[in-house]
Amino acid sequence: MLTFSEARNLVIEKAEMGAPQAASARGVVALPISDALGHILAEEIRTDREYPPFNRSTRDGYAVHSVEAPAGASLRLVGEIKAGDTVREPLALGTCVQIMTGAALPPGSDAVVMIEFTGRDGDIVTFERVTQAGQNYVPQGSEAHTGDVALSPGLRLGFAELAVAAQVGHSSPQCYTKPRVAILSTGDEVVAINETPGPFHIRNSNSVSLAAQVQLAGGTPVPLGNALDRVDDLSAKIELGLRADILVLSGGVSMGKYDLVESVLKGMGAEFYFDAVAIRPGKPAVFGRCRNTLIFGLPGNPVSTMVTFHLFVIPAIDILAGAPPRPLPVLEATLAEPIKEKPGLTHFLPARLSWPDSGPQVHVLRWQGSGDIAALTQSNCFLVVPADHPDISAGDKVSVLPRADVL
Ligand code: AMP
Ligand code: MG
Repeated sequence: MLTFSEARNLVIEKAEMGAPQAASARGVVALPISDALGHILAEEIRTDREYPPFNRSTRDGYAVHSVEAPAGASLRLVGEIKAGDTVREPLALGTCVQIMTGAALPPGSDAVVMIEFTGRDGDIVTFERVTQAGQNYVPQGSEAHTGDVALSPGLRLGFAELAVAAQVGHSSPQCYTKPRVAILSTGDEVVAINETPGPFHIRNSNSVSLAAQVQLAGGTPVPLGNALDRVDDLSAKIELGLRADILVLSGGVSMGKYDLVESVLKGMGAEFYFDAVAIRPGKPAVFGRCRNTLIFGLPGNPVSTMVTFHLFVIPAIDILAGAPPRPLPVLEATLAEPIKEKPGLTHFLPARLSWPDSGPQVHVLRWQGSGDIAALTQSNCFLVVPADHPDISAGDKVSVLPRADVL
């Protein structure tokens, strides 16, 4: 059985094989910058001018010729420059000008002295400290030159990337359209959330959590409802799912008599790359390909569905979205209470991370197993218990996997 990192690497390898084809089939769209957050950039964006465009003061103070402003020296104040002012006139020898943060230094000046380190008597400014050439301003062109690459294709547009696009005047970046991720739950006991469940039915929460996870991961969810545990219904709905880039199924992948997902997919021509992973929850997770669609058969227990999505589906969405797969964002924390799990499987336990002054600390939550989504609402991370080190003492360092939606 594969470890979770082996399984993850296999997902990455197989997704990368089909990625160029999938991306070109989906194409590119110019998005208003206000809608582009989380999309993957499909073009190269270059700077339109020098950055900064002028020698930009980083302090409120006085622009000087540094050689004229050693400790104890005085200069005559001849004017002021505020941010946005047009500055053409060179600084005359023997003088200084008051300057504000963000304003352009006058030609010839090569330092800004912070106002805090000066004295003033009428139009005479006295300097209290040594003044060094280059202090307190950012030279023109030192951040980027005209025509430099500011943003490259494949970048995920986060707040910093959007700010750079805005800075260079690019108000509608070309982005890859998001991969379409079909979501199909399975099970005779599963009813839609707006139906009244019979005494032995359960509402379809997996389709809701999966759609949320797809959206957070940067995909477009395509909800297909629920398939009964019957070959005809499963085949018909899987057929619809194969129009998407990725098909995620929940349930029907365990060893039960009515767990038909794998055999139905096989009958439709799917090949499988793994059908079990050494993790808990989530051991029966299945990954394969059918025609041009990557397929994930995730176990139906809600927490298993969520954990296996997090581990395996996100990297596939990243790659089909046109970006490199994000690494698992694992943090280190101190374990608050001892735990003991079964060896041989990597466990992902609902847990709560906090930051007392002593550093990140993690508490494992009480839960009733992988159906217990109520317990999960108290969590903000999963504690990762290694397969070969399942017995951990309080105070030991452990890894935690943050829940991307709440932490
Ligand atoms: P399965 O993986 O099909 O054996 O299902 C395992 C458990 O998950 C069962 O208790 C199911 O009732 C539950 N389950 C399956 N599908 C869903 C769903 N869509 N929403 C909520 N729970 C589900
Ligand atoms: Mg089932």
